[in-house]
Amino acid sequence: MPPPTVPRKPLGKFYAVVLRTPDFSHGNVARKGGLGGKDVVPVPEFGALCVCCDGDVMGRTQRVELTDPGGHFRADPVDVPICAGCAEHAVERTGASIMAGAALCVGGPVAVLGFFFYDLPAVGVAGLVITAATVAWLLRSKRARLAHTRGGHHPGLSLLVAPRQCVVRTPNRAFAERVVAANADRVFRVK
Ligand SMILES: [Zn+2]
Ligand SMILES: [Zn+2]
Repeated sequence: MPPPTVPRKPLGKFYAVVLRTPDFSHGNVARKGGLGGKDVVPVPEFGALCVCCDGDVMGRTQRVELTDPGGHFRADPVDVPICAGCAEHAVERTGASIMAGAALCVGGPVAVLGFFFYDLPAVGVAGLVITAATVAWLLRSKRARLAHTRGGHHPGLSLLVAPRQCVVRTPNRAFAERVVAANADRVFRVK
């Protein structure tokens, strides 16, 4: 079976290359995801060029965390080719994004509770402040990412793992193609 092709998307949109080990099973994901713990993760081959700007990294790599969106499963960080110029912006700060999501979930309800249910305006205001600050932060980081994206850079790489699965999430189509080519036998799907 030929490896899947990478679709074409507008600049700044993300690609997801899903790698799985041959013995991947959803039952195992549920078990390990529920209980926590470690399992085998198919560590991708990333190729030789910078994952952000496709430039020569001069042998430089950078540790990137493997993030479990569910938060239970752990895996060791991996070394990814990132050039010195891209060190600060190549990788998505998934921890911060998850925190922002959590803050949004808390801020709104806290404001509603404070104003309408408990008659505690201070609590309501605190909820609004959390929400406003979080939204501002999200907009700022999105703008910063897009500003970089226009200069031939593709910031925002993240590596999402589940037991026996690793998803390489990137807005860099050329890099996504390199990952597919280098991991052809393990690519389960490309979106
Ligand atoms: Zn670079
Ligand atoms: Zn870059």
